[in-house]
Amino acid sequence: MLNICVIGTGYVGLPTGVGFAEIGHHVVCVDKDVNKIHALQSGQITLYEDGLEDLLKKNFEAGKIQFSDSMSEAVQKADIVIVAVGTPPHPVTHEADMQYIHAAVQELAQYLDGYTVVAIKSTVPVGTGDDIEGMIREKNPTADFDVVSMPEFLREGFAVHDFFHPDRIVVGSDSERARLVVQKLYEPFPEHPNILYVKRRSSETIKYASNSFLAIKIHYINEMANFCEKVGADVLEVAKGMGLDNRIGPRFLNPGPGFGGSCFPKDTMAMAYMARMNDVMMTLIEDVIKENSVRKKQMAHRILSVIQGVENPKIAVLGLAFKNGTDDCRESPAMEILDELLTNDVSITVYDPKAIDNAKKILGDKVVYAPDMYDAVKDADVVAILTEWDEFKNLDLKHAATLVRHKNIVDCRNLLNPKDVKENGFEYQGIGR
Ligand code: NAD
Repeated sequence: MLNICVIGTGYVGLPTGVGFAEIGHHVVCVDKDVNKIHALQSGQITLYEDGLEDLLKKNFEAGKIQFSDSMSEAVQKADIVIVAVGTPPHPVTHEADMQYIHAAVQELAQYLDGYTVVAIKSTVPVGTGDDIEGMIREKNPTADFDVVSMPEFLREGFAVHDFFHPDRIVVGSDSERARLVVQKLYEPFPEHPNILYVKRRSSETIKYASNSFLAIKIHYINEMANFCEKVGADVLEVAKGMGLDNRIGPRFLNPGPGFGGSCFPKDTMAMAYMARMNDVMMTLIEDVIKENSVRKKQMAHRILSVIQGVENPKIAVLGLAFKNGTDDCRESPAMEILDELLTNDVSITVYDPKAIDNAKKILGDKVVYAPDMYDAVKDADVVAILTEWDEFKNLDLKHAATLVRHKNIVDCRNLLNPKDVKENGFEYQGIGR
């Protein structure tokens, strides 16, 4: 059993802390956001992730996980400190903004006591491990520690599943001592994960290389969807046919409104920035970033084109989170599409099963929030589906047809069966079909 201190209780830190507690380690999660810590200390969950609430409750009640707004004791006792604070895009340069990492490291450095592994789980620019090592040495010259890169690959919405069934764990370190601690960390796993030990800079690069590749894959199928629309092919059939090829694989071939979320947009921009800083041409990534942003505007115009000429048009938006299974709206395609829609004279009612509270922080009172999907579609001139929640697949089209003003559906996630939709009198537009 190891003593673990996790710094940052966000979408990565909280599932990570809960997961390690579940497999038998003792975990203290620290966050500077006292509201989050107070909520967690009183047994309340602070974000939505499938299956996380029950697991948190179980381990919290068993005393295997604790929460604190102070690092001192947790870092002193820790065998491993896992840093999982945010690295959002810098507003001007779009490189990773390192202020939260630097603040966390400056603080933790002073409390290191006995040999400790400092594992960086946040997505950080290549070379950060070296910088952090220098910062800790300067702050606490006698500290006995190793800095390890341990990037996170979980998918939001599946964080609990992915914690227990990772495709691989990447560990960047040359230190044998640090590797032994990491081995102990993963020893109690029910299925022993595939651990890849690499150089620290390779590990930091693997994270950006992976996310950039996945973003490119999504953009590729989106462009293919545009092509299918022009030539009368069905992109879902095309994706299926492509995905059966083992060299390509079926995942990340779902056409949609463009990639979003708190990772792909910022990580592709950070990758492009690092390439530019190192005089390396990465035109593919640069193009994908630009075109992905254009795509969201195109989706908004697709929705608007349906209601052209309608007086006082009302748009019903189903889905605000950047994907299903999470309440996270950061860089959600829905937010960017709404931004564009709102530059027009339209009224918009929105509904999301989990993300309304987070959406309110971004959209304020610019839209009306509906308590369910039927309330949202009432009197709508077009229904736009922007997130792939299962709930929307079960939309009772017969009932919806009696509620709307004009029967139009723009399904940016290809959730509905076009035949069913048309049988209920709706005009239907999916993506690439
Ligand atoms: P988040 O914004 O949800 O959470 C970050 C947390 O860190 C916040 O609760 C914040 O209060 C806390 N924090 C910031 N500075 C702190 C400090 N000095 N001391 C203590 N707490 C501090 O972020 P996230 O989505 O969990 O992402 C964290 C990192 O993991 C980022 O680098 C991200 O790129 C990476 N990552 C995220 C995902 C994902 O799906 N969200 C997946 C893989 C990797």
